Amino acid sequence: ARESCLVGLIGSGVGPSLSPALHQREADRHGLRCLYRLIDIDPLGIGPQGVGELVRAAARLGFDGLNITHPCKQTVIEHLDGLSEDAALLGAVNTVVFGEDGRAIGHNTDWSGFARSFARGLPDAPTGEIVLLGAGGAGAAVAHALLTVGADRLTLADTDPARAAGLAGTLATRFGAARVRTVPPEGLPAAVDRADGLVHATPTGMAAHPGLPLPAGLLRAGLWVAEVVYRPLETPLLAAARAAGCRTLDGGGMAVFQAADAFRLFTGREPDATRMLTDLSEL
Ligand code: NAD
Repeated sequence: ARESCLVGLIGSGVGPSLSPALHQREADRHGLRCLYRLIDIDPLGIGPQGVGELVRAAARLGFDGLNITHPCKQTVIEHLDGLSEDAALLGAVNTVVFGEDGRAIGHNTDWSGFARSFARGLPDAPTGEIVLLGAGGAGAAVAHALLTVGADRLTLADTDPARAAGLAGTLATRFGAARVRTVPPEGLPAAVDRADGLVHATPTGMAAHPGLPLPAGLLRAGLWVAEVVYRPLETPLLAAARAAGCRTLDGGGMAVFQAADAFRLFTGREPDATRMLTDLSEL
C-alpha cells in the first residue's frame, strides 16, 4: 500500500469545503500522509469547461485523484479516459482516480454515499412511494440511489418543471417508466400525503436559502424525511419534521459516505465511516 496520498477538490467556491479535513483525518488514522488541496476555479478565472486543463495538470503533477464538484461534474467527463458504470449512467463524476498507467477514471460516490447513509440511518424505512424534492445534481444522485436499492416509485417535484421532467426522462429509461413520475408544485400536497417518505434535495435551509422547502403542514407522523443539505446539519426542515413526529435523516451521512467511498478509491484502504461521521459533527 502507498504511504502518501495527494488529492484535491476542483470546483467553484470550494473554500469552505470540509473534504480536506474528512480525508486528512481518516488518512492520519491509517498512518497515511495525505494532502488534500482545494482547487477553486473562480480565482483561476477558469470556467466549467476548463476543468480538463486542471485534471491533466494534476495527473502530470502526480496527484492520486481528485474530487470534482459544482459546476464541473458533467464537464469533466469528456476529459477522462474512462468511467465506472454508475458514473456513465448518471452522467456525473465526483471522483477521479489516476491509475499508474496515467489513465484518469471517473466515478460517482454521491449516489453510493446517499444509499449507504440511507441504509444506515433509516434501515427499515418503507420505500413504496417516495417524493423527491429537487431534481438537480443532488436529486439525480439520490434518485439513482433510491431506485437502485429498490424503491417502488419516485415522484419528482421541482420549482423548475423542466428539470423534474428531464430527470424523470433519464430515470424512466434507466429504471422503467412505471417507477418515476413528476408532479407540478400544486400537486405536491397530494403526493406527500400518499408517500412513505420525502427526500429533500434543494438548497433550501442553507444560509443563502433560508426557510422551508414545502409547507410544514404537509409533514406528518408516519412520513420519514431525509435531508441532503448538510450545512447546517440541522435544517429548518429537519426540525419541523421531528416536531411533526417524522423519522429523519440528516445530510451529513451522504457527505461522509461519499467521502469515505472516494477515500477507498484514492487510497485502496478501507475507511471507518463511523469515525468520519464523528469528525463531521466536530467540524
Ligand atoms: P442544483 O442547483 O443542481 O439543484 C437544486 C434544484 O432544486 C434545482 O433544480 C431547483 O430548481 C430546485 N429547487 C430549488 N428550490 C426548490 C423548492 N423550494 N422546491 C422544489 N424545487 C426547488 O443543486 P444541487 O447540486 O442538487 O444541491 C442541492 C443541495 O444539496 C445543496 O444544498 C447541496 O449543498 C446539497 N448537496 C449535499 C450533498 C451531500 O453529500 N449531503 C451532496 C450534493 C449536494
